[in-house]
Amino acid sequence: MVRVRFAPSPTGYLHIGSARTALFNWLYARHNKGAFILRIEDTDKERSKPEFLEEILASLKWLFMTWDGELTFQSQRFDIYKKYADMLVEKGLAYLEGPAIIFKVEKSKKVAFEDMIRGRVEFSTDDIKDQVLMKSDGTPTYNFACVVDDHEMQITHVIRGDDHISNTPKQVMLYEALGLGLPKFAHIPMILSKDGGRMSKRHGATSIFEYKNMGFLPEALVNYLSLMGWAPGNDVEILPIEEIVKLFDVKDVNKTGAIFDMDKLSWINGQYIKNMEINALTDKVEVFLKDRNIIQDNFDRMKLIEIIKIYKERMRILEDFIGAYRIFFSDELEYDEKAVEKHLKKPNSKEIINRCKSAIEADAKFDKVSIEEAYRKLADELKIKAAELIHPTRVAISGKTVGAGLFDMMELLGREKVLKRLAKFC
Ligand code: GLU
Repeated sequence: MVRVRFAPSPTGYLHIGSARTALFNWLYARHNKGAFILRIEDTDKERSKPEFLEEILASLKWLFMTWDGELTFQSQRFDIYKKYADMLVEKGLAYLEGPAIIFKVEKSKKVAFEDMIRGRVEFSTDDIKDQVLMKSDGTPTYNFACVVDDHEMQITHVIRGDDHISNTPKQVMLYEALGLGLPKFAHIPMILSKDGGRMSKRHGATSIFEYKNMGFLPEALVNYLSLMGWAPGNDVEILPIEEIVKLFDVKDVNKTGAIFDMDKLSWINGQYIKNMEINALTDKVEVFLKDRNIIQDNFDRMKLIEIIKIYKERMRILEDFIGAYRIFFSDELEYDEKAVEKHLKKPNSKEIINRCKSAIEADAKFDKVSIEEAYRKLADELKIKAAELIHPTRVAISGKTVGAGLFDMMELLGREKVLKRLAKFC
């Protein structure tokens, strides 16, 4: 049976790159009907914090990555590591340096392993120093604890970021010294920023919970992360998680770094928003707005549904609904000053707005079809393009140049509010 593990250190929040590593492990486990195990690498007592662990677990759950069995904590297993280290001392393969235990590295040898993504990887032991196994404070080093645990937990495939590639020969030597068989290794390429460097704060949000806060949908994030170094083929990009599980194989992961592209992620999120059933989407938006105190329990759900209906084609993240909601429910509009300057401060602006107002007052029905007709007719009369009425109206009633279809917005706002907002500009 396939058994894989994700081994986070609870010294920070779950990063985009680590989430992708977790996801590839999880997908591989689920595809092969194997086990996905979580091992908490909390050997650094100073830097490990319970709140980071909580956050990592919550992020994994939010991204649908459920794990099998109990969590394993390395901090509770120091005596096990010590036992293995003593074994190596007894065999004459490790030596003591005070209370520390050090592994002797024989020079001029080759250490090699077969990587599922990169093929054969070879290192010379001339480049590897003697390895500390147990530090003088009784804590194990990462490479040693990792080998002991991967063995004890019967891990069949070690799938991790290729920033660990230089650790793997050290681990391979330890497996051999302990007389243990090797797991299979797969080193997945790093996620890089658009400028080719490692992803950092400078390139935008790096932790999963920041994406959650911005209103990314977990389905979309999982979908996007799965495309970071892997592709389902046939240019398909939007696919549900069950489909990804069916198609995913770690050996199909690319060797080269994957570029994190926020625009692409937002586009994918927009596709999920667009395709979501209206009630399910409204539930999500409701929670999102309530969490931010923008709406309270007595909010008008029917009206919210109407807003979502006219905006959902163009929204990329849930955060975008905040602005949309305010346009309809707040009397204090925020105006994009540049847009006001461009569309409402022309020599003939006042006159145009006045003519729009009259057309609206004369439109008995005031629904999106009748308003559009009235606007087209007015444009003909004034011998101008309809756009010259549409842009200023949009800015006057919403404060912005972008948004839902203008006539949809006008119908939903209602005649009275539209007239009041237009009156500010004439
Ligand atoms: N705790 C290590 C890390 O966060 C785990 C590496 C591994 O998967 O072996 O990078």
